[in-house]
Amino acid sequence: MRIGPEIARRLFLSGNLLLKLVLLGFVALLLSQLVVATVRAQDSGRAVSGPARGGETVRAVRIWPAQDYTRVTLESKASIAHSLLAVKNPERLVLDLQDVDYQSLAQEIAGKLGNDDPYISALRAGRFKPGVVRLVFDLKGEVKPQIFTLKPVGEYGHRLVLDIYPAKPADPLMALLDKTDAKETPPAEPPREAQGPPLPLRMEPEVHPGAPIAPQEPRAETRAGKSAPAPAEPAKPAVQRLVTVAIDAGHGGEDPGARGRRGTQEKQVTLMIARRLKAVIDAEPGMRGVLTRDGDYFVPLVMRVEKARRVKADLFVSIHADAFIKPHARGSSVFALSERGATSAAARWLAKRENAADLIGGVNLDVKDKHLAQTLLDLSQTATIQDSLKLARSVLGEIGSITTLHKEAVEQAGFAVLKAPDIPSILVETAFISNPEEESKLNDEAYQDKLAHAVLRGIRRHFTRNPSLTRPIVAAAPRVPASVKPILAANP
Ligand SMILES: [Zn+2]
Repeated sequence: MRIGPEIARRLFLSGNLLLKLVLLGFVALLLSQLVVATVRAQDSGRAVSGPARGGETVRAVRIWPAQDYTRVTLESKASIAHSLLAVKNPERLVLDLQDVDYQSLAQEIAGKLGNDDPYISALRAGRFKPGVVRLVFDLKGEVKPQIFTLKPVGEYGHRLVLDIYPAKPADPLMALLDKTDAKETPPAEPPREAQGPPLPLRMEPEVHPGAPIAPQEPRAETRAGKSAPAPAEPAKPAVQRLVTVAIDAGHGGEDPGARGRRGTQEKQVTLMIARRLKAVIDAEPGMRGVLTRDGDYFVPLVMRVEKARRVKADLFVSIHADAFIKPHARGSSVFALSERGATSAAARWLAKRENAADLIGGVNLDVKDKHLAQTLLDLSQTATIQDSLKLARSVLGEIGSITTLHKEAVEQAGFAVLKAPDIPSILVETAFISNPEEESKLNDEAYQDKLAHAVLRGIRRHFTRNPSLTRPIVAAAPRVPASVKPILAANP
């Protein structure tokens, strides 16, 4: 570029008038080409690194439908200025985005919305006015939206998050009762009422001092009775305290957890194992499993704890399959909470990683329930941790009978998800997804089943070893409303 003008200048000084005019034209042409080239270069540069002429490029749109809520995430390199408007008749949400590239957004939303989304029926984008692109969500009913932004973390850039909650959230206790009713009253069976008095959702020992508290006794009878059904019913009424196990599939939605070399995501295997664990627990008389998530969506750590408390869970089991610093690390381990430090550097490292789930999954800090956080902070966990350790040892022992253990002893660290003050809670690292051999095991259905049965045996053993274990009543755990239909005995 420099040589051109230099040659032109020399020729200009030495040539005649005609030649000078020709040269002037040539120089003008050269300059105009130069200007065009510069503008083009700037444009292409912008398309890669900053807002193009059309605005900020939307890198990705992700939709995570779930009964709890549907989350819509827009990811971009820079943050997006936005405004949200709720419109009635029909119900819609209108999201206006400032200086966003329409094409990239239109491309990203195409085909993303599933028919089964519980809250969104249709999604469309349009150029609303200069500088504003409009996203319209047609809704299936009344909703409560929340919108917030997340700063870049991990592999993610800036995220604009729209969470669409139902206007009337489903009562987890009622949902649980409905499911339990459906499960326990198949049409072929005689009405349960004939078999004994109705059982309250939770039979507290002080209310029914004569009733069996620990479930192992009646279950032993039932198991024996399964192979050869005895015609004689037990003398005691066929009621027993139902043990509720909250099963927590680690990660989900925006938070994939760890990744295996073959691309397996931790959030997928944890859900598969959690569902199997629920199935084997539900098949146990007097026991039921409740999943903290049953789909690919994100549940904040504190919500997982809160969900378990709302259904008055007796135990909390969080399922994981993390990666480890060393790729050849292998084997299962079981963790409990520690209020003071971790039992090893590895345990501390893992707890830190797990607690980062909220950052990656994305929590709306503006509305984070302060009351909830306070409830969890104010209560001493010492007694619960002792019970958690007992449960962890029983489960670790059973898992050790089916696979290699990473460590023979139960470890402790400050896992946020294990902080229910009144529910013995453990975190099971089923295997290391970072180890290729274990990655394939995690994807193996037979192995998932084996694991589920081992955890169940551990839970059973926990109650057999500690028959006096009752759930301490702390804080204002919700009482079952009188209108709630009681759960009937699962004991045949
Ligand atoms: Zn994990």
